[in-house]
Amino acid sequence: MRCPKISSRVLAPATFPTMTDPETFDVVVLGAGASGLMCASEAAKRGRRVLVLDHAKKPGLKIRISGGGRSNFTNLDIQPKCYLSGNPHFCKSALSRFTQWDFLERVVQAGIQYEERSHGQLFCTGTANELVEMLMADCRRHGVVFRFGTKLARWRGAAKGRMRWEPRWAPFATSLVVATGGLSYASIGATGIGYDIARKWESAVLEPTPGLVPFTLRGQDSRDLPTLAGIALQATVNFGEVSFTENVLFTHRGLSGPVILQISSYWSAGQAVLLDLLPGVDLFGHLKTQRVRQPLKMLRTVLLDHFPKRLVEVFLEVDLADRKLLTVPIATCKKRPPTASRNGRLFPVEPKAKQAEVTCGGVDCDAISSKTMEAKAAPGLYFVGEVLDITGWLGGYNLQWAWSSGWCAGQYV
Ligand SMILES: Cc1cc2nc3c(=O)[nH]c(=O)nc-3n(C[C@H](O)[C@H](O)[C@H](O)COP(=O)(O)OP(=O)(O)OC[C@H]3O[C@@H](n4cnc5c(N)ncnc54)[C@H](O)[C@@H]3O)c2cc1C
Repeated sequence: MRCPKISSRVLAPATFPTMTDPETFDVVVLGAGASGLMCASEAAKRGRRVLVLDHAKKPGLKIRISGGGRSNFTNLDIQPKCYLSGNPHFCKSALSRFTQWDFLERVVQAGIQYEERSHGQLFCTGTANELVEMLMADCRRHGVVFRFGTKLARWRGAAKGRMRWEPRWAPFATSLVVATGGLSYASIGATGIGYDIARKWESAVLEPTPGLVPFTLRGQDSRDLPTLAGIALQATVNFGEVSFTENVLFTHRGLSGPVILQISSYWSAGQAVLLDLLPGVDLFGHLKTQRVRQPLKMLRTVLLDHFPKRLVEVFLEVDLADRKLLTVPIATCKKRPPTASRNGRLFPVEPKAKQAEVTCGGVDCDAISSKTMEAKAAPGLYFVGEVLDITGWLGGYNLQWAWSSGWCAGQYV
């Protein structure tokens, strides 16, 4: 198939690149993000002529802001169970063929300094830009051509397995790799074009929803937030059968911190999550014991052994706080209504999605080959990275999925 060069001008909405140049490509990668850059360099290493298109002005914008600018680029403990998907087996093949160790080897070879943080998370010690430079250098070394400022604004679909661009309906490459990511952070260029392309090919798209997102509290639940904002402590959070124990952070609008981000990917709108602010400690049992051992000790003092002062003050009725244990009926030692729950430890919230780090849902993995990332119904059409219905936990899992899936497609396009 012929693939003339694509102009690099910024395209007006609903227009497509004009293909007038005789230069041809074997592979067009849509999206110069984590998965697209990995796929492009791998394909180019195999001698494929690769063109990467992106409407951003420079590559890897999400990589650059990931991990607060230091990029949590992978995790030492990558496991399929750390990924959410309608098809939980799908990620296994790619993750085992291009592993965290494979990516780490590249990082080391590129001379990028990194550090291990808690839970096996690996971060750059310099900046995330170094990763983008590493990927770009790899692409350029193998002749990948880039066109930035080029927006694919509309996809008119295709017929009988042939991909066509609007307005010319001219087939332009043997392979199109959709590496357009998820919907989060539209401010830096995220779009839903990947989902549109999948739908045109009659592939199902599981409803995209925000993942790894802080919770906003409303009404009574938000009443004490101005006092609590800034407090961070370890907590266990539960949603159905799923449970995480990590830090929670009270913010002016609600709850954040790793434990909240983790559970948010599992959470369904309108449902409550349970937050245990004293994981592993039987508070009532402890109070009962203390009541016998130190009956003259004030309730506030006992609770301060476990909770920050501001939290104790918010969760205890004022008149209770200064009473001696002996005079406090144990049953009243609960967080106050309506957030009160069993043992005074569970804290149901009505969370609302705000700014998500990733998008859950996406292109149905059942329609894609887990080996090649090619759409089963559309030879030559590939999906990699976050656009697929694969969402990793917080901790470097999403970037590793982008590297692994991009690498796999790069071996076949
Ligand atoms: C603030 C933030 C912090 C994060 N931190 C981490 C972290 O530390 N560790 C981790 O593992 N994950 C992190 N993530 C998630 C991670 O960045 C993504 O999962 C990953 O970048 C997905 O890679 P991708 O290649 O699928 O998509 P992306 O990297 O998002 O790349 C998609 C590309 O497609 C382009 N594009 C989109 N639509 C069009 C269009 N219509 N036409 C042309 N081009 C288009 C975009 O401009 C973009 O360059 C973070 C995400 C955010 C938002």
